[in-house]
Amino acid sequence: MGDHFQRIVDVEAAGDEAGALAERMVGWLVAEGVITRETSGEGVYSQTADEGYVPGPRWYRAVEGSAETGWQPGPVAVMTGRDYYVGGQGQDEADSAVCPRCDTKTVIIDYPEQFEADDEVWRPFREAIAAWKETGGGSTACAACGAVVPVTEWRFGSGFDLGALAFDFWGWPPLGTAFLAEFSRRLGHRTEEQGGKF
Ligand SMILES: [Zn+2]
Repeated sequence: MGDHFQRIVDVEAAGDEAGALAERMVGWLVAEGVITRETSGEGVYSQTADEGYVPGPRWYRAVEGSAETGWQPGPVAVMTGRDYYVGGQGQDEADSAVCPRCDTKTVIIDYPEQFEADDEVWRPFREAIAAWKETGGGSTACAACGAVVPVTEWRFGSGFDLGALAFDFWGWPPLGTAFLAEFSRRLGHRTEEQGGKF
């Protein structure tokens, strides 16, 4: 199964509520038997966490279908603090950003001609994201309509999300749709899913 992860990012939690939310979600997952309170760093390569919660006796409740015989999922790492999260193999830029005011798409990585971000296009986003990480606020002006839009409102291409709370399931079978819906409902926030390999 290798070192792959499935990640749930809470894209609405504020930085100062992430810690309490994380604790509440861990409490729920432990009560459900999906994880235990025991932690381990084995097979955990999360960007800001080096250990996670060991799977519980009913870990299969979180996955699609019935438990696969012999599957041993890895720990579930919980990350708090404002950050950007990338799926896939983890490049540091989004490939595109759509303005929520005028719906214009700004292309950042011009596939298939380019495989790297246009630094001039990406720079204002990178700077706004850095400001947001630092202070909780950061905005970028839309080149099409001129609106100054908070970075948390731009719709970045898939696999690039901003959030203050994220959960990495290391080496788990595909998480179930009912579980993901319940997860989001309990957070009380919109979530995005990512997948990738270390
Ligand atoms: Zn715009």
